[in-house]
Amino acid sequence: MIRQCKACKRTHQSPKGCMLRPMKIKGIEYLPLPYGKEAAWELYKITPEPNCRDCGTPLGKYHHLNCCVEQCPLCGEQWITCKCKVDK
Ligand SMILES: [Zn+2]
Ligand SMILES: [Zn+2]
Ligand SMILES: [Zn+2]
Repeated sequence: MIRQCKACKRTHQSPKGCMLRPMKIKGIEYLPLPYGKEAAWELYKITPEPNCRDCGTPLGKYHHLNCCVEQCPLCGEQWITCKCKVDK
């Protein structure tokens, strides 16, 4: 099944990864971390695979929308479950 990203309209197999999508948290825009820069790799001494296991983006490129590997640029938690993005 080919999945298409709602943000960049590329498929998840695209070698370009996602476009740069600033993440808005409490009114401030943060730049997303490129794949491979997440703290978890260092923390658990894991070498990231050449392509993201969830969204397929290559190392050094940006994750696609709703990727479960993407890290919150503010708190370092998993972006899709992190509470920072909930603007009250
Ligand atoms: Zn990803
Ligand atoms: Zn995308
Ligand atoms: Zn967060």
